[in-house]
Amino acid sequence: MSYDPDNIFTKIIAGEIPSHKVYEDNVCISIMDIMPEAPGHVLVVPKQGSRNLLDADADTLADVIKRVQKIGNAVKKAMNADGILLRQANEEAAGQTVYHLHFHLIPCHKNVSRRD
Ligand code: 5GP
Repeated sequence: MSYDPDNIFTKIIAGEIPSHKVYEDNVCISIMDIMPEAPGHVLVVPKQGSRNLLDADADTLADVIKRVQKIGNAVKKAMNADGILLRQANEEAAGQTVYHLHFHLIPCHKNVSRRD
């Protein structure tokens, strides 16, 4: 499957669709998920387009995972979370619904169940 730039995250990156942006640099944006699984659920979305992890180029991945770590630490602190769940789906069978690479960062608290 190939990458189709006509997707919702490309439009959010371009500013054509509004989002609640919590971070942006030359590599990625981070936005609040519109249907959060838990309070503070954010997405890290690389500006470089790829369908998902399986076709992303290695340099982009190396840059993005550093942001995932940095934003994950910031979200954990901001949400006073006990942990962060990192989730990333590749293709429909795995639950992917938006076909532009992204990482979910979901704050988790002890003794609080999440919506799956
Ligand atoms: P996936 O199911 O592909 O792993 O994750 C896609 C995520 O994008 C979902 O959690 C969904 O709630 C989120 N999403 C879909 N459309 C929008 C949107 O327009 N704005 C934002 N902020 N999130 C969106």
